[in-house]
Parts: sequence; structure tokens; C-alpha cells
Amino acid sequence: MRESGQMAISRRGALGLAGAAAAAAPASGITIRPMLADPAGFAPAPGIAHLKYNENPMGPPPSALQAMADLARSSWYYADDAEPRLAAMIAARFGVTPSQVVLGHGSSEVITSAMLAWGKRGTIIIPELQFDEPLIFPKAQGLNFRRVAMAPDLGIDLAALARAAAAPDVVMVYLCNPNNPTGMVLPAAELAAFARSLPPRVTLLVDEAYMELADDPAGTTMLPLVRSGANIIISRTFSKLFGMAGLRIGYAVATPDNAAVLKQHRLTISLNAPGLAAAIAAWTETDFQQRSRTQIIAARQLLRDAVMRAGTVALPSQTNFLFVKVADANRFAAAMAQRGILVRGAWEPAWPTWSRVSTGRLADVERYAKALPELVYI
Ligand code: PLP
Repeated sequence: MRESGQMAISRRGALGLAGAAAAAAPASGITIRPMLADPAGFAPAPGIAHLKYNENPMGPPPSALQAMADLARSSWYYADDAEPRLAAMIAARFGVTPSQVVLGHGSSEVITSAMLAWGKRGTIIIPELQFDEPLIFPKAQGLNFRRVAMAPDLGIDLAALARAAAAPDVVMVYLCNPNNPTGMVLPAAELAAFARSLPPRVTLLVDEAYMELADDPAGTTMLPLVRSGANIIISRTFSKLFGMAGLRIGYAVATPDNAAVLKQHRLTISLNAPGLAAAIAAWTETDFQQRSRTQIIAARQLLRDAVMRAGTVALPSQTNFLFVKVADANRFAAAMAQRGILVRGAWEPAWPTWSRVSTGRLADVERYAKALPELVYI
């Protein structure tokens, strides 16, 4: 599991809250912060700085909140008709046909669908240090994944991926650009050259969950290659820039053929109506999207400054989180949790000295910044 140093229970459930409470327990065994979630369980309790899951504290724009309220009365209908509407809006912005857009319960669903569809045909390769929760269900189905080592700077090693993709059983490469947890971006020209070098049997899945936060989204995305008919699937989400992680709306953009395969492997019927209503409303809110990006970048800069002041380093992130070098990531996360600040412990045992922190509310980021110099070397 991703939350190493913790038990294998769902990250979104008990782990994020009860797990952190356990981490907050001092040696005496007395739990000092038993209530990390508010009583309803939808948000952290007052006093908790939740800097753990790369959420966006700005939340949805007012038009999206209104759209959700308006539709509450008709939420007893399946929202089937709203799906083509959102798909058409996304297609129009990206210059593809609606048939090339596949919606999902978060981008996690479309990524999982891709894993299931391609994983049946052969092996999927994935960088070692990368978001991989969509692999959990496909792995439980017995599908095969092969991990590829990172470059020395913890970037994605495209040359190593290309060598791995030459094996005849490989049918897909799944990578994140920008990557999570490093936040690092692969230059478009290098990624495009890599894509062109892949054998025709290998589909490239580029997870662009954080692309809108990159320095140059238009120059970095692989959308132009998808438009030109390349064997590439892109996934995006409303969870990050749009502040709608809890509404679970994401999508893939692909060639019509690849999109049709993804649609056959959707995990459920009909997306949730409030999420669709909010996404439709927020999609055209370009001022909101710009403000959201600006706020996230400002919070990221605060984190960077804090990291520098604390005398440590972070990888060059173009996302809403930083991967920060600490003495011991699990001890660091436990000590932060004792102060009511939730960050990630070690991603995997292989990276015990890197801790990921998300850009949350500014006051929460400031609390992290204040605690960092004392805890970074423990
Ligand atoms: N892709 C990456 C790289 C992520 O970091 C995440 C979530 O943190 C996701 C996809 C999943 O996002 P969602 O299912 O909310 O769209």
C-alpha cells in the first residue's frame, strides 16, 4: 500500500484520519488527537491542517455550488443525459469529437478502466515512484504490472521505460505528467519522442491530473498528439484545479477506438448527478480556474520558501504539492500529526527520506512552515 508505515487499509477512509491519530499517539499510548475528522466525516476537524491528499481548499466556484443545489430536487433521476453534455463541452475545448471523451468517477475510474482493458492483453509498465492506486483493483484481478526504476534525480526515466516497453508482452505504459509524488514534469518534446518510439502494440496512458497547474500546460500536454491520432490516452480530473475531489468527476481523451475500449470497461453506470452539475458549471468558469491556479502556485511558493528556510530541499514541483527531503519521513509525519498537521509519511520503504506535503489553506501551510525547521531533522 502507498501509505507505508501504516496498515493496509483504505487511504481515503480510516487511514487518513484514524491512521494519523495512531501516528499521533505518544509513547505512552495515549491518543492525543482522537478526533481528526469533523463529526460528519466530510472534512478535517477544526484545528487539523489537512495537507495530505493534494486537495484544493478553494473548492468549486459559486456557480457549481448553485448548480448542485438546483439539481437536488431532480436527483432521483439517473443523470445519463448530462454526461454527453459534459463530454461535448470538454471535446469542444480540446478540439476533439465527443466520442473521444470518456467520463469517469474521478480520473481514477478511467485509469482503472484502461488498466483492466489493456491488462487483459498483456503487461503494463509503470515508473516505480508514481501514484498507483488505480492498480489496486486490476491487481486483484490478477493483471500484470512491471515497475521501472526512476532516474537518479527521481524523474521518470524515459530511456528505461522505452527499453522495458520493447519486451513483446508489454501493451501499455502508464505514467503521470506531472508526476505524483515528485511533482516533476517531463518536457513535452522528450515525452512526444518517447511516444513515437513505442511499438504500435503499446498504448501510452498519460495521467495529466495536475497538468493545469504546470508552468506551461498547453506546451506540456500530450493532447496535440491525441488529436493527431496517436495511440495515447490522456486522463484529467476535476479534483485538483476545480476543487472537486469529493465530487468524483474525471475523464479521458483518446482516439475514438481507444475511447470505445475504455467505455466498454467502465466500472459503473451513470455518474453522480451533483458532480456532473458542478463540473458542467465550472468548466466555463475561466476566471475561477485562473484564480485557483494562482492561489495554488502562491501556496506552493510559501512551501518552497519554508523548505529553503529549514535548510532542506524539495523536488521541482509543478503541482499542488512538494516532495520534501527529511531525515525520516514516517517520524516526520508522526511528529507533524502530533501538531495536528497531516502530511504523507514515506511513500514506499524505498524512499524513506521524502515526505509529500500538499498546498492547503494558507493558514495550514503557514503552520507547516513554522513546524518544519524543528521536525525536518528528527
Ligand atoms: N492521478 C494522479 C496523478 C493523482 O495524484 C490522483 C489523485 O490524487 C488521481 C489521478 C486521482 O484523482 P481523481 O480520481 O480524484 O480524479
